[in-house]
Amino acid sequence: MCGIVGFIGNQQAYPILIKGLKRLEYRGYDSSGVSMIENQEFNQYKCKGKVADLEALVSGKDISGTIGIGHTRWATHGVPNDVNAHPHLSGDGNLSLIHNGIIENYATLKEALMEQGHVFKSDTDTEVLVHFIEDIMSKTGSDLFEAVRVALCEVVGAYAIVVMDRRHPNRLVCAKKSSPLVIGIGAEGDYFIASDATPFIEYTKNVVYLEDEEVALIDRQSGLKIVTIQNQQKDPYIHELELKLEAIEKGGYDSFMLKEIHEQPRSIHDSIRGRLNLNHGMLKMSGIDRHEEIWMNANRIIIVACGTSWHAGLVAEYLFEEFARIPTEVEYASEFRYRDPIIQQGDIVIAISQSGETADTLAAIELAKEKGAFIFGVCNVVGSTISRATHSGAYTHAGPEIGVASTKAFTAQVAVLYLIALSVADKRGTLSKERLHRLMAELSTIPDKVEEVLKTNDLVESIAAIYKDHRNALYLGRGYSFPVALEGALKLKEISYIHAEGYPAAEMKHGPIALIDEEMPVFVIATQGHSYEKVVSNIQEVKARKGKIIAIVTAGDKTVSELADHSIEIPKTDDSLVPIVSVIPLQLLSYHVAVMRGCNVDQPRNLAKSVTVE
Ligand code: GLU
Repeated sequence: MCGIVGFIGNQQAYPILIKGLKRLEYRGYDSSGVSMIENQEFNQYKCKGKVADLEALVSGKDISGTIGIGHTRWATHGVPNDVNAHPHLSGDGNLSLIHNGIIENYATLKEALMEQGHVFKSDTDTEVLVHFIEDIMSKTGSDLFEAVRVALCEVVGAYAIVVMDRRHPNRLVCAKKSSPLVIGIGAEGDYFIASDATPFIEYTKNVVYLEDEEVALIDRQSGLKIVTIQNQQKDPYIHELELKLEAIEKGGYDSFMLKEIHEQPRSIHDSIRGRLNLNHGMLKMSGIDRHEEIWMNANRIIIVACGTSWHAGLVAEYLFEEFARIPTEVEYASEFRYRDPIIQQGDIVIAISQSGETADTLAAIELAKEKGAFIFGVCNVVGSTISRATHSGAYTHAGPEIGVASTKAFTAQVAVLYLIALSVADKRGTLSKERLHRLMAELSTIPDKVEEVLKTNDLVESIAAIYKDHRNALYLGRGYSFPVALEGALKLKEISYIHAEGYPAAEMKHGPIALIDEEMPVFVIATQGHSYEKVVSNIQEVKARKGKIIAIVTAGDKTVSELADHSIEIPKTDDSLVPIVSVIPLQLLSYHVAVMRGCNVDQPRNLAKSVTVE
């Protein structure tokens, strides 16, 4: 949450900052601001609204300076308004600071500072931090780098910060704990700082990921220096990025979400490529192979995740139990971390997170680690905090996901979890070779099947037009399709603001059936397979109460198609792979409904991507 960008070097900072903020806007978009230093004065502008509003505000103003910082906010403390927008200045006006995260002990610090005469303009926790740094500088005479380090020893909470002192325009200081921060090292003394590498990928591929509790000084003369907040010197380790510019552009689509929906044949293919060797009937999951013993002796798998990743985890529960015969539990990371969970010998914790920065998931990992569990991560962002905090893992190769509503990350997660389940089953001998090879072959056809389903777009759009003004929707599925029902409902509510619920189809009669009347659209995943007849009965129950049925059916199905008000055909596949294919029309449906209702699909209200606050 919240996007941070900073620059110091030989170019004008503002164009780099504003372009960077646009790329980071998916992380937060309720207000934004920039600050540059020119002639030892700040050119600072900030306002409520989108980055476009900030651009309008600065138009015609002095934006010069070769050092600067920029921020796009997702408010935690104080409503989104011009005053609470970042950057925040110190009381003496010499320091300007941007922050991602929450300073948990800000109230205590604020009280102490107010007693000493500090006056605050905003309601934010962030402003307290910049006053606190100023206070340390004035009391101890230390420079900004040292004062930031000392201040952070007193701070409880999460932060990624960048701060500058207008009297010393040759230095930027940044630090992080629990929120991400990456430093890009450009040519000829240019340095970039950002929440992720997207703001500067056209300038450099050389990056340093700052670790928790590290403080970095970037000085025009002496370059980059890193210390821990305990004042231990660190040698910067330079990674080379693989990210390409096209991956973070819309590529002719109206929105990132639509682009990302259409990218799924490729992103699923990329996620399984190299891991599935059909000729030799072999699976290659290095994160599993390296720890074969642990997986062979696993007694239980606990999956921790949030949001859409939690739904991918639910699909994985079915996969691990069916294929690998390992008891599996799926937990909301936020619940798991706060209830002293029982971890036993032989437990494996799988953490799933698109960004690899999700605060609750990260905290769940740390807790499970302390309790002795083996932790396996499934993340999309290479080098992310979770990917570094786990013992082992497997990346999804979905490419950057910028639309806030997750689409291609979900299908890539399920594909990778599928490979993990097959690989573990293979090692444990819980699947016959024949079945294993059949499932592997079927998995390899999924990108083409997803391509096929994308052709239902016009049909789905016409269905969206019929139901766009409804106030509620119900999503039903059984077995592997139950998590898809949850995911379909989540997609609709998060981008179109229509209330939607996902239920196991059989549970309908224990409550939700009371909601059904002619005004209630009921989306049912009714593909042919294990519980087909049972789902058909559930559809009959809805029809008997005049509910409207929109069914996802197997190509060629007659029974459900005759019963349903609308049906959307998807290619036949194994039950266990239906989630990856059947979720596609539900994604498209949410997209079209949201567009027809005039909603911003890429930046839905109140939400942000990469949830780095708990
Ligand atoms: N806690 C800070 C605020 O509310 C930073 C929030 C963010 O990460 O955008 O301003």
